[in-house]
Amino acid sequence: MAFEQLSLLPADPLLALIGAYRDDPRPFKLDLGVGVFRDAAGGTPVMRAVKKAEERLLATQDSKSYLGPEGDAGFVAALAPLVLGDAVPAERLAGIQTPGGTGALRLGAELLARAGVSRIWIATPSWPNHAPIFAAAGLTPEAFDAFDVASQTLDGAALLAALDKAAPGDAVLLHGCCHNPTGIDPDAALWAEIAERVEVRGLVPFVDLAYQGLGDGWDVDAAGARAVLARCRHGLLAYSCDKNFALYRERTGALWTVAPDAEASAILYSNLLALARANWSMPPDHGAAVARIVLEDAALTAEWRAELDAMRERLVTLRQGVSALGTIGSIDLAPIARGKGMFATLPLTRSQVAWLREHHAIYMAASGRINIAGFSEASIARFGEALKALVE
Ligand code: PMP
Repeated sequence: MAFEQLSLLPADPLLALIGAYRDDPRPFKLDLGVGVFRDAAGGTPVMRAVKKAEERLLATQDSKSYLGPEGDAGFVAALAPLVLGDAVPAERLAGIQTPGGTGALRLGAELLARAGVSRIWIATPSWPNHAPIFAAAGLTPEAFDAFDVASQTLDGAALLAALDKAAPGDAVLLHGCCHNPTGIDPDAALWAEIAERVEVRGLVPFVDLAYQGLGDGWDVDAAGARAVLARCRHGLLAYSCDKNFALYRERTGALWTVAPDAEASAILYSNLLALARANWSMPPDHGAAVARIVLEDAALTAEWRAELDAMRERLVTLRQGVSALGTIGSIDLAPIARGKGMFATLPLTRSQVAWLREHHAIYMAASGRINIAGFSEASIARFGEALKALVE
């Protein structure tokens, strides 16, 4: 036995931040750390359409007997056309429900490993869990720099150069929209170039779409994923409903694979089932059942989409407010208005982040990542004052 070889690991820094925020007695404290949507009152409520679907589920569900490793097939079937449009013919597509986007990423990573893919290219910074998920499945994450945090820009040339450097058969991770942690997405022209490179170089795109509907709008947010998956021979899409249905703890997601033909697709599907069985046997049901009820009912779908639109509009308005702070010292906030979704990463050092927490009760990730939804109109002004004090 080698339990003695294990060492104590540090607590997850973001979870530690949550604890520190909770224990801070200052009434004006500002939480820009945790990655959940917040409304104007600072809450993360259950969406009204989701509540109604839950009531319907409670009233009608007559069994909690097992489903299968594929989860709620009706959920996956209802979601697929909304996510992928007609980008990929149905016979080339296989999909299964997963425990959140994280479960989809892990399952996809294991499928890649089974298929003999050994490397995945990841532009940095990325969601901190990406590299550990792929490494845990036995892949080698190949990180490359593609963002300039100071100017809030994506370096398209660096991204394309990495795709040129990747070997045929390598995988490449692509954030579908609302990049976490920068909020900077490729524009349509760059997506077209990425799709072309992926096809020509024979790469396997793995798109992570965790924020559809929170960027520019439902279809625009999926346009990049569709463009890439339409042109690849093999590809994957990890999807999360945890933000756009506000289902977070219900762990609601899906994984789709793209294969060259129906026969190859059936093979991938059977492997997805086997991998799911060996991981969690079956995904948790509640969130997917609720999302399915919403998606199968036109009135509930319309209500949910209106709520989602209001969330997106709140993010756009807050981004404009932060952007209007302009340049403070060497920190240019103007580009924040161009970003999408919940996150932006500010060019702050770790000690500047700590100073803001200590002196102004402003909480953010040590990387300088802020959650735009954590702001209110009043706290944007206060944030600007704190940044002025910081650079003085
Ligand atoms: N991908 C990205 C880019 C994310 O930001 C997140 C959640 N923070 C996930 C995947 C995982 O989503 P879920 O909570 O559904 O597992």
